[in-house]
Amino acid sequence: MNILGIETSCDETSAAVLRNGQVVSNVISSQLVHRDYGGVVPELASREHERLIVSVVNAAVNQANIQKNDLDLIAATAGPGLIGAVMVGLCFAQGMARALDIPLVPVNHIEAHIFSAFIGKQEESGTPRQEFISLTVSGGHTMLALVRPDLSYDIIGRTIDDAAGEAFDKTGKMLGLDYPAGPVIDRLARDGDPGFHAFPQALTAQSHSSKSYRDNFNFSFSGLKTSVLNYIGRHQPEFIEHHLPDICASIQAAITGVLVRKTIAAAKKHRVSTVSVAGGVSANSALRSSMQNACDREGLRLFIPDTVYSTDNAAMIAAMAELKHRRGTLQSNRYDVAPFASFTLR
Ligand code: ATP
Ligand code: MG
Ligand code: FE
Repeated sequence: MNILGIETSCDETSAAVLRNGQVVSNVISSQLVHRDYGGVVPELASREHERLIVSVVNAAVNQANIQKNDLDLIAATAGPGLIGAVMVGLCFAQGMARALDIPLVPVNHIEAHIFSAFIGKQEESGTPRQEFISLTVSGGHTMLALVRPDLSYDIIGRTIDDAAGEAFDKTGKMLGLDYPAGPVIDRLARDGDPGFHAFPQALTAQSHSSKSYRDNFNFSFSGLKTSVLNYIGRHQPEFIEHHLPDICASIQAAITGVLVRKTIAAAKKHRVSTVSVAGGVSANSALRSSMQNACDREGLRLFIPDTVYSTDNAAMIAAMAELKHRRGTLQSNRYDVAPFASFTLR
């Protein structure tokens, strides 16, 4: 079975082919036009997707060594994301599926992130056979969910303000780093001391005297932002520049510290033996190593996607459709799919 995946929810134009569960191509074109603006400009993103979609899809099909006629199914992101950006990929997929007379499967981008942790990891079943705790940390979302083998899930915690990726990007911007600042902070932090300054880790038992925070699985990163802003204001620019790696390492430690602590606490509370982490921030090297250490300590099995599947990619969109197909929960042959902008609780 050949599945074509298409992803255009934000600033990556991506297409991938999955053959019998294996990723055989995954073409990702990251839009560079947003660099000068310090963030993604929605209208420019839509236009770039429009400009790139044909060549990216053709490249994915060619690299898979197949013809379009060999495709059995097309999966495309239907949301959440920038609505104009989502529409470009989804409408393209609708047209292509109709022309080839094959099913179109709308995919929820965040669900695709959740299950991307298992791409290429468990050939047999695609996901664990028991319930597990999933941490999704991306540019727009931060959430903990209890996921069941039938792919259903309960969200047990989410951010009440910024997402973890935003916390990286916005504090990085304050330090004058390029967008997106997450990978830049990751790189600079390698030469820094994470204990240089203790930035706040909100909504943890450690940050509040009340025990009730032990079972609080929500996140908050706005206080960290204010704290970094104040810190920069209190110090000379030369000091900040000289200690940039230390400050980056300290910010990174504050963000990843909260993520690890809450994920482990959720796993213990729900008595699961498996944990997964996915989304763009799961590419962060400090998060990967500290989550692995914590899971080893607690006897938990950890799944993290290969970094190419952490940030936005179409392989995870195709993989999501394949998982649903395997679980028999695929609703297909619907061409009248509507795009959606925000993630709604089910
Ligand atoms: P969403 O998935 O919520 O709709 P998005 O698709 O824009 O948002 P992703 O592509 O999953 O988000 O992730 C992008 C985010 O990941 C950015 O905030 C970026 O800074 C962050 N990121 C990527 N690599 C790293 C890294 N190595 N360290 C920290 N953050 C990173
Ligand atoms: Mg992106
Ligand atoms: Fe994403």
